[in-house]
Amino acid sequence: MGVTLNDSVAPKTTAYLRCSAGDCGTTLDLHERALACPKCGELLEAVIGPDHVDARELKRRWLERRLSYAPHNASGVWRFREFLPGDYPQHAIVTLAEGNVPLVPGRKAAEWAGVKRLWFKHLGWNPTGSFKDLGMTAGMTEAKFIGAKAVACASTGNTAASLAAYAARAGLTGRVYLPAGQASANKLAQALDFGAEIVQIEGSFDDALETLLGKSDPELYFLNSINPFRIEGQKTAMFELLEQLGWDPPDYLVVPGGNLGNSSAFGKAFRELKQYGLIDRIPRIVIVQAAGANPLARMWSSGAKQLLAVEKPETVATAIRIGNPRSWKKAVNAVTLSGGLVMDVTDEEIGDAKSMIGRDGIGCEPASATTLAGIRKLAATGQIDREATIAAVLTGHALKDTDYIIEAHGPKTRRKREPESATVAVQ
Ligand SMILES: *Cc1c(COP(=O)(O)O)cnc(C)c1O
Ligand SMILES: [Zn+2]
Repeated sequence: MGVTLNDSVAPKTTAYLRCSAGDCGTTLDLHERALACPKCGELLEAVIGPDHVDARELKRRWLERRLSYAPHNASGVWRFREFLPGDYPQHAIVTLAEGNVPLVPGRKAAEWAGVKRLWFKHLGWNPTGSFKDLGMTAGMTEAKFIGAKAVACASTGNTAASLAAYAARAGLTGRVYLPAGQASANKLAQALDFGAEIVQIEGSFDDALETLLGKSDPELYFLNSINPFRIEGQKTAMFELLEQLGWDPPDYLVVPGGNLGNSSAFGKAFRELKQYGLIDRIPRIVIVQAAGANPLARMWSSGAKQLLAVEKPETVATAIRIGNPRSWKKAVNAVTLSGGLVMDVTDEEIGDAKSMIGRDGIGCEPASATTLAGIRKLAATGQIDREATIAAVLTGHALKDTDYIIEAHGPKTRRKREPESATVAVQ
């Protein structure tokens, strides 16, 4: 049959929005423009139920689409469209060929952490250098589809870069709210390059998000990860990971935790894959936060039932410098369902882990290195079996925060700059 592609979207019996609070039961039309349940205020989630799933046939079809250059097949998000909301016509999809990123074995990193089977799923190798692109292609497609003219987000930097790029692609106005002086220059530069409007907010990311959510401009479509379409797009990273592992789930899936959208998305992915018989067990989800921005880790270790926000979040890992994560309830559900755990690591541990990942020739931004730091800690305390198969999600590219790297290697860098020939000439 060669490259004959089945482009038909599987018939969907269900595609709607539902309140994420288990006991609420409120449902909304899929394209309703809402971010919270009108009845109880909790976050919404998309319910996508493919009509009929032949697991073997579907896995084959997903792989087959990789042979096609048609934009909706070349995207590592949209090739899994049977599990995405919205029967968009092909031309309506806003894509930059995101996804399809490799799974790379961590060798030195594994040795350093004291484990044997470690893989990095590098979502930093996406068009704008972070996993945000996976959610943004879905969110921006929906924004354009319902006729939004402008899109906005609050961001520590990566969401801004991604929104700016996809807004440009879609021909929409992009506006990003950043905590003044806190986003890395590299991320700010990307948002500028893609032509977004930048609004600097005094305070933290949490303040920026609060400011944005206070705006009730009907022209403005919100693209933070509380947007259920973002979560759907990010979910596909786990479909792709499992495909790369031959649909044999790893024992652990380790992910950095900031606003906790990604952890929520991954939990939803595993739940659906298991429900539809595409996998037979769910990996334990381990969420790793930075010690200075660790509200969920605190809640987890204290056994509390409610999240207490961290007033002044502080960490070198700016992408997860978040004190009041919005998706914490969804994330708790994901961890609980999977039999996983939540933990934190110090900035020093993040720095050490980051340089070990670099020694594997991979590189990542500081927030991503929380994963390896966490794995090392769990192995050292016997909480993780050294033989276990572990997939760690690297969320951002090394070039996202070059100031951090230069500073971390400061003295060495300066020494190297001294030209050797000059030294010889003086002697
Ligand atoms: C956004 C981001 C995170 C945090 O993800 P959440 O979904 O907010 O938990 C972690 N690392 C990087 C590089 C990010 O850009
Ligand atoms: Zn509700």
